[in-house]
Amino acid sequence: MNIDEQHIWHPYSKIPNTVPSHLVESADGVYLNFKNGNRVIDGMSSWWSMIHGYNNSYINQAMKRQIDSVSHVMFGGLTHQPAIDLCEKLIKITPQGLDKVFFADSGSVSVEVSLKMALQYWHNKGKINKSRFVTPRGGYHGDTFGAMSVCDPQKGMHHLFKDVLPQHYFVTQPTLGNTKEALADLENTLEKSHNKIAAMILEPIVQGAGGMNIYEADYLKGVRDLCDRYDILMIVDEIATGFGRTGELFGCDHASISPDILCLGKALTGGYMTMAATLTNSEVAETIGVLMHGPTFMGNPLSCSAANASIEILLNSDWKKRILQIQSLLNLQLLPLKCEHNVVDIRVIGAIGVIEFEKPLDMKSTQERLINDGVWLRPYGKLLYTMPPYIISDKELTTITQAMIGVARSF
Ligand SMILES: *Cc1c(COP(=O)(O)O)cnc(C)c1O
Repeated sequence: MNIDEQHIWHPYSKIPNTVPSHLVESADGVYLNFKNGNRVIDGMSSWWSMIHGYNNSYINQAMKRQIDSVSHVMFGGLTHQPAIDLCEKLIKITPQGLDKVFFADSGSVSVEVSLKMALQYWHNKGKINKSRFVTPRGGYHGDTFGAMSVCDPQKGMHHLFKDVLPQHYFVTQPTLGNTKEALADLENTLEKSHNKIAAMILEPIVQGAGGMNIYEADYLKGVRDLCDRYDILMIVDEIATGFGRTGELFGCDHASISPDILCLGKALTGGYMTMAATLTNSEVAETIGVLMHGPTFMGNPLSCSAANASIEILLNSDWKKRILQIQSLLNLQLLPLKCEHNVVDIRVIGAIGVIEFEKPLDMKSTQERLINDGVWLRPYGKLLYTMPPYIISDKELTTITQAMIGVARSF
């Protein structure tokens, strides 16, 4: 019997699985090695996290040293050097003013914590009516209940739960070219309802899982101004965009702004371990006082050691130059597809290349075709996109773009 197919839930799937899972035996650099002998280039960086590739000897060594020292210890009443080092690093590299760090165990949890921070903040200021959130349509912030409630209400994956989710305010999705209108809609909402709103939450520059939508830095600047003017906190979810993916270290850096609360995850540990973080500034932290959250595996030392090693590799590399080279190559190779009859849009920023088709792609046949071309990508509705590890060579990246072009020309 096939245990995986009959008994294991994979993300957003049913049992038995309709699309077979490929058994990964090992992985090195940008390559996944399947048990059946296929060796494919991972154009997804394992959901955007594996930025330095697999089996990186520097991260491996750091984690092995940590295992031999202490793998886990509760964070209540105890602390350890890897957490202290990571905290220092994050304060140094993230936008100005964010110097209070909460270590969470997954991206969704870091979003929950950010929402709680905002609620506790207003509660302690005596403004208990400020208990709602505002967010642009088309966002994605995770799969737990609080996070789900600020995902896109229509197109998102959580439509089913809409009746049990708290109701928040959704505003016009920013795109390339609509900054003025999108900000006007936000201002309109804030003007009417700012007394009920604790914070705005949004992904900076690129909305990821909600549809791979790129927008202008001026929108972020405008949001910062409006949040200040209408007295609401600004939460930026950098779980997908953090650590260089968009060509700046953080999405906020495109607009030179600092949010009041920042969420990090995915690439934080170079894809090695599950870990996330929520950062805020002193004013918010002091107003909150006791923050009511504390996961069992908070600040796990092994995760911290992976994160420290990953950030060291990133900062010691010429990451910006490489990301911009990846961006040029993606532009060069994907933009010509704009004139294909079935292609609606091509979007590129940093190490992100997206083809939006007219119709949804068939997951199974598209994936088979891509694997035959030596590439691992996960088509997503009408989207086929790549977010490769930063260590990818031009030749390997071209293998990915050629495979994407192959899909575009196959129907
Ligand atoms: C992936 C993602 C999350 C959720 O992170 P998990 O680790 O899957 O819980 C939240 N926000 C954004 C922007 C993401 O891309």
